[in-house]
Amino acid sequence: MSDDDYDDAPRPSKRPKLFTEFDCPECSANNPASDGFRVGDEVTCMWCALTWRVRATDDGFKLVPA
Ligand SMILES: [Zn+2]
Repeated sequence: MSDDDYDDAPRPSKRPKLFTEFDCPECSANNPASDGFRVGDEVTCMWCALTWRVRATDDGFKLVPA
């Protein structure tokens, strides 16, 4: 077991930030993501059903067509 296995300790810039909502680029709907998502994940808009890939930006993330 290594120290890296502990999830509860704050480790800035150690792990990708977990986001909990996104605004769909297609229909502008706000989608809560109860399970959370990270850069590199794919998210699906619950309103228009389009799937987006999460890309990192300086101020958070953006969504590009998957
Ligand atoms: Zn949408």
